[in-house]
Formats: sequence, C-alpha cells, structure tokens
Amino acid sequence: MKKVIVLGGGGFIGGHLAKRLKNEGCYVRIADIKNHEYFDHQEICHEFILADLRDPKAVELVIGEGYDEVYQLAADMGGAGYIFTGDNDANVMHNSALINLNVVHECVKKNIKKVFYSSSACMYPEHNQLDPENPNCEESSAYPANPDSEYGWEKLFSERLYFAFNRNYKLDVRVARFHNIFGPQGTWMGGKEKAPAAMSRKAAETPEGGSFEVWGDGLQTRSFLYVDECVEAVLRMMESDFLGPVNIGSDEMVTINQLAEMAIRISDKNIAIKNITGDEFIQKYGFKCPEGVRGRNSDNKLYENKIGWRVSEPLEKGMIKTFTWINEQVNK
Ligand code: NAD
Repeated sequence: MKKVIVLGGGGFIGGHLAKRLKNEGCYVRIADIKNHEYFDHQEICHEFILADLRDPKAVELVIGEGYDEVYQLAADMGGAGYIFTGDNDANVMHNSALINLNVVHECVKKNIKKVFYSSSACMYPEHNQLDPENPNCEESSAYPANPDSEYGWEKLFSERLYFAFNRNYKLDVRVARFHNIFGPQGTWMGGKEKAPAAMSRKAAETPEGGSFEVWGDGLQTRSFLYVDECVEAVLRMMESDFLGPVNIGSDEMVTINQLAEMAIRISDKNIAIKNITGDEFIQKYGFKCPEGVRGRNSDNKLYENKIGWRVSEPLEKGMIKTFTWINEQVNK
C-alpha cells in the first residue's frame, strides 16, 4: 500500500486530492492547521493531524518514516481580496516560506521518495500579462521575474527551493503552477474565495431582478480549471519523469464579466452586473480595487508534450457543479 502525506489537506485542493488518493487505495495522512470544513475526515484520509507547519517540530512529527510521497499544498493564501491588497504581504511570505523550508528539509531527512509542490501562476511576470487578449504564461517566460504580488514572489522562491534540494540532495520533486482552480468544497465566502465561487455565491444570494457587484471593469481575463481535472493532472505528473515547473490550468480564457454572466445564467435568474472600480471602489472599500493582472491564461503546451494528456472539461460544466453546491450552502 502506497503511503502518502497531504500537507494542506484540510483545504480545498488538498481535500479533493487526499480523497482521490484514498479512493485509489493509498494510506493517506493529512496535516493542516485546521479541520476540513466540508469533508468528513474519514472520507478523505486515514489520519488527520492538526499541526502548524511553520513549526519545524510539528513538521518532524507529521512527515513520518516510511512514507512514499508528500504532496505540499499548505500555504497562506486567498482570493484577490486577501493577497492583492498588500495588508497581508508579510504574513503570506513569512508563513508560506517557513512551511516550505521546513517541509523540504524534513523530506530529505526522512528519505521521502517523491514530493509534489503546488506553485501558482501568480509567479509569472506582470509585464507579460498587461494585454487581456494575449497574456503570456509560457513556463519559460518566468524570468526575468516580476510577479505582481508577494504571494507570487514566495511561490517563485519556493519553486527554486525545491529544485535546489533536487540538485543538491537528490530529492525527487514535481513542481506545478496552478492556474485558478475551482469547484465545490472550497472557500465560497469571507474574502478568501476565488472568482468562480464569488460569482456563484453572488448569483445565488441575489434575488430575481436584482444586481451584484463585480470588482474591476470586468474585462480582465482569466481561465479556471475544475478541481477534479487539477487532481488528475497532479497524479499524472507524479507518475511521469517530468519534474516541471509546468502549468496546470485550463486554456479556456474568459473575461470576469463573462464568468459572472455564466453564473447568472446557471442561476436562471434575471440579474444585472454592476462593475465597481477606480475612485468609486476606494470610496466604498477604503482600498484600491485588487484586480490583479489584466490577463492570464494557462499555456498547456509543455504539460501536453511532456505528460501526453490534456484537460478538457468546459468551464460551464464545472460552474454548474460549483453553483449547485454553493447555492445549497447559501440556502442552509
Ligand atoms: P486552501 O487555502 O484551501 O488550502 C491551503 C491549506 O493550507 C489550508 O487548509 C490551510 O489551513 C493550510 N495551511 C495554511 N497555513 C498552514 C500552516 N501554518 N500549517 C498547516 N496548514 C496550513 O487553498 P487551495 O486553493 O486548496 O490551494 C492549495 C495550494 O495550491 C496552495 O499552495 C495554493 O497556493 C496553490 N494554488 C492554488 C490555486 C487555486 O486556484 N486554488 C492557484 C494557484 C496555486
């Protein structure tokens, strides 16, 4: 029986990944600073350890002897309202860097056979993402580095950390850059939710004939990958010999307003969108609208070439599943 550890398994992607690994017959240990809010622990793992991975002693306990694989998804992260305002920069960098420093060291000590690290598209340089029609997120465009957030800089640092341990200590690593993963059993309110969850919640909460706010002019572009396909892509990468870094995302690019319109269509209500930006936003919220880069899309050529598989689920299909789940939460 393969033994795996999912760090950050109390979170969105980690929970889904752990569940899949358990269903495939692995022995699964999860460590997270919090319990999973939406999954029963028996559903996703054999052992759930509450631990603060910033503490090296905790990481020493969590990463036990005899484990085959570690999936490192723990990070201090959130949606645009958390990582792009600047208010959380110090915590984001300090907390996530500490986790990665501890984990990589302990994986070498315990002879872990393979380690997966989840980086993010937020590490790509801002200057290649100014044109919403034509963003460049090819893996090779990462340098010269210029991420638009400290969250992105920490991811870039940690990618380099895993590869340095690969070169110097022969740690077998896989590094992927996730692009906006979404789906049920994820954060859907409170400021850390991502755009698909935020739009679904707003569409679910807004009464027929009403309107909801979309931050920014709505013309910024993004792509969104349904969580099951993300998990599939991670597992296929772990089976391959390709270390990365490689994008894991969808290349179905939409504007944020198109995403909002999709959520409204799925809700089957007549709802208007109110874009809020510039001074109006500052007056209302007291900080600059955290829109992020103008355009971002996953470039999947490298993944397809190296691993021979492509993500294919249309955005709308995933949005229907996500809206349905969030609508249930709203009505609870
Ligand atoms: P999430 O916030 O749901 O999961 C992260 C988990 O890390 C949380 O459960 C959190 O409690 C845990 N954590 C944070 N600090 C911890 C600590 N000190 N000790 C122990 N656990 C701690 O986020 P997610 O969407 O599931 O993302 C998983 C990973 O993928 C993260 O590394 C994230 O940066 C990366 N990523 C996600 C996306 C996305 O769209 N969701 C995009 C790019 C990258």
